[in-house]
Amino acid sequence: MKILLATEKSFAPVAVSSIGEVFDSAGFEFILLENYKSKELLLDAVSDIDGLIVRSDLVTKEILEAAKKLKIVVRAGAGYDNIDLEACTANKVIAMNTPGQNSNAVAELVFAMLLHHIRGGFNGKMGTELRGKSIGLHAFGNVSKLVVEIAKGFSMYVYAYDPFIPDTDIRKYGIKVLKRAEEMYRICHFVSIHLPLNNATRKSVGYDLLSKMPSPAIIVNTARKELIDEDGLIRIFEERPDMVYLSDVEPECSNIFKEKYKGRYLFTAKKMGAQTEEANINAGVAAARQIVDYFINGNETFRINK
Ligand code: NAD
Repeated sequence: MKILLATEKSFAPVAVSSIGEVFDSAGFEFILLENYKSKELLLDAVSDIDGLIVRSDLVTKEILEAAKKLKIVVRAGAGYDNIDLEACTANKVIAMNTPGQNSNAVAELVFAMLLHHIRGGFNGKMGTELRGKSIGLHAFGNVSKLVVEIAKGFSMYVYAYDPFIPDTDIRKYGIKVLKRAEEMYRICHFVSIHLPLNNATRKSVGYDLLSKMPSPAIIVNTARKELIDEDGLIRIFEERPDMVYLSDVEPECSNIFKEKYKGRYLFTAKKMGAQTEEANINAGVAAARQIVDYFINGNETFRINK
């Protein structure tokens, strides 16, 4: 079996060698295409592979059609909006993700961004604290569960809204469950977004929800920028000088923020929620093991397409 790890962003070297070891011991051939700059390089590299691991790299219909022998593609990460699942199914390719493997890195980033902001970027001036503040979790998946652990360490009040998880499963974490997203935005000074990006959630957080937040309000988005309705975001920023947006990657409208809302935002230069050595190792090795397990035992546990 020939397996390609294709990643536009570099992977931690220790993660690459751990992935290599998994394939070596299974007797699979392992190839690395890292920091590639053109789609053509990827199209060429996929032509004779049986398995593919990617990170945020786009796995489009064109890539899948060029990968004539491909049986399985694994997204080393949680969100899989970069993979065309319908095209995978049409080309008889199994698609998987590696849920939970990079969640801790993302949960820690939520608090890194919050603390950085409420302490004024460590500028020597007066800041505020997290203790006793309310944080709402918009969606309650793997990342949110770890956010809860950390939030409790800061003695915060935690609320969650996730209509797809039974209330009892959320209450087990010792937090409050809310039935409507609006209720959560109304109560919480901080809201951390952990929604997956899909047709139902794209642009689902906009003026209506944000305008409900008490003052001062901070939105933390470590999920996807496309979840935010940016017209609504700008509208509420114009109306509410107390509103702050912390996002793991710049929104499309970042120029407006830079021009008009100084001190009210923080955007990472490159998506970096999962950019830790540990997350790279966890997600990369999980992806490699899932590929081996699929080819040897037919295990499709983490399949995400039909
Ligand atoms: P997850 O799949 O474990 O959880 C997603 C949760 O969203 C599920 O509990 C689901 O029930 C809930 N949900 C779906 N639609 C909803 C809706 N309309 N309203 C409320 N809840 C809804 O995902 P996760 O590991 O917690 O990650 C969340 C997202 O964060 C991922 O989809 C990914 O896009 C993003 N992420 C970003 C980074 C990064 O590098 N910044 C890293 C990992 C994950």
